[in-house]
Amino acid sequence: MITPCKEKVKCSFFSCPKTPNLSSMSEDVLSRADLPGTDLEALHRVEETLRKNEFRLRTLFNTAHDAIFTMDYKTFTDCNDATLRIFQCKKDDIVGQTPYRFSPSHQPDGRTSEEAAMDKINAVLQGEPQFFEWTHIRLDGTPFQAEVSLNRLDLEGDVQILAIVRDISKRKQTEQENQRLALVANNTTNMVVIANANGEIEWVNPAFERTTGYKLEEIIGRKPGHILRGPESDPKAAQMMRENLRKGEGFKEVELINYTKEGKPYWVSIEVQPIRDNQGKVTQFIAIESDITERKASQKALEERNEELVKINAELDRFVYSASHDLRAPISSLLGLVEIARMEKDPQSLERLLDLKKKSLLRLDQFIKDIVDHSRNTRLHVEVESINFEGLVNSALEQLQFMDNMERIWRVVEVKQTGTFYSAISRLNIIFNNLLSNAIKYADMDKENPMLEVRVTADDQKAEIRISDNGEGIPEESLTKIFDMFYRASTKGVGSGLGLYIVKEAVDKIQGSIQVKSEPGKGTEFILTIPSLVKS
Ligand code: ADP
Repeated sequence: MITPCKEKVKCSFFSCPKTPNLSSMSEDVLSRADLPGTDLEALHRVEETLRKNEFRLRTLFNTAHDAIFTMDYKTFTDCNDATLRIFQCKKDDIVGQTPYRFSPSHQPDGRTSEEAAMDKINAVLQGEPQFFEWTHIRLDGTPFQAEVSLNRLDLEGDVQILAIVRDISKRKQTEQENQRLALVANNTTNMVVIANANGEIEWVNPAFERTTGYKLEEIIGRKPGHILRGPESDPKAAQMMRENLRKGEGFKEVELINYTKEGKPYWVSIEVQPIRDNQGKVTQFIAIESDITERKASQKALEERNEELVKINAELDRFVYSASHDLRAPISSLLGLVEIARMEKDPQSLERLLDLKKKSLLRLDQFIKDIVDHSRNTRLHVEVESINFEGLVNSALEQLQFMDNMERIWRVVEVKQTGTFYSAISRLNIIFNNLLSNAIKYADMDKENPMLEVRVTADDQKAEIRISDNGEGIPEESLTKIFDMFYRASTKGVGSGLGLYIVKEAVDKIQGSIQVKSEPGKGTEFILTIPSLVKS
């Protein structure tokens, strides 16, 4: 049995000179004993066990990583080697000192260390074991966080306090770092996924849950690719990511379309980094995904705008070229005709020259009209109103009544309209005027019965318009080009090559479509399908 020091609360538990050494105590017992052989053997065994126990305890005491020390009601009485290491002092520096000598003046809760320490000491002396966190300082005054456990030791009337102090500053630092990292992961708008070495989800952050609509519980253990990919996800990018992960390699800035739980697509830029253990083996993957849907949308809008600008530029080039040519041609011919007229005396010849001048002026007039139509068509807002096709066709034909050959062309108009059809009347006027004037312009006057037909079927949903003639027709190779700006398939007439281009633009504006069927020598048919628009 260990005999504690009789000098009450003054000395240490393990190394008080007044506490007899266990082996010397056994010797003492043995020398005084006058015992029979079997009792002697028993005593030897007891002595051996005691020696071993004492050895174990002392080894434990001195090799422990935590500071273990004893205290009386106020001061340190003994300590192990770890105490000296943790407090960075020598035994003489600490034994006899109060615990608050090794504490800052105040604890983090604002209490003085002395007051707080005395509370704990009193509580433990009352028999209540204490376990708490404490800020200590080393001998040089450097503070560190500790976890302290205090227990009362009753050693035959001698009351001591056994204290174990664990330096938890590293743990606290890691905890703080983890808290900061968690703060970043939980509050960033980027999606964060932590996956195991097989690429199976272990954790996702709130931004991931918000964007995808998946909760961690329902996707844990699954592969992100299996949940997030969809029809528009680029298979090549997905394949590249899979292969890199299989090889334990990361990747950066891979952009692809993912899908939310509800099937809504969104663009992400993905960066994945492998986490390796000390042996270099991949243990986890961390993926950071940023939602780039908006960026992609503006990028697409920019590309579209760019394409549009390239188209507009090309058209402008063609326009400047043709405009200079088409505007100057009638003027040059007019100037020529004026010079000829000056020298002409014969009234009949003068009359002929006047006709020719009128033709040149008409050509100029048509060209200017086409340009104005084009400009209005591209700039004017689509005003939607209810359409009366019968009235529209008749007024278009009326406007064209003074065209050459008009009186010889047989006209058929058939309009079947049920319900109210909404569209832009200004655009429909442009369409009818151009298609009808073309049917007249390109009529075959050598035919016995040149004719044009307008057939309209409309309800409250859509309208189908067919404008056909038995005129000269269009060569097959020109059919794909007749809607291009300034394209002319015929040498006849006074056209600018702008009419069908303007028609196509107007049809697009009212969300319709246009087709053409034609056979040279037989005739041409334009078929338009136009939806009824919503009146704003
Ligand atoms: P243009 O001012 O030359 O009439 P358009 O753009 O209106 O220009 O038409 C382009 C070309 O399509 C015309 O030059 C003509 O060759 C051909 N075309 C258009 N409509 C008809 C039609 N009804 N019959 C025959 N050819 C036509």
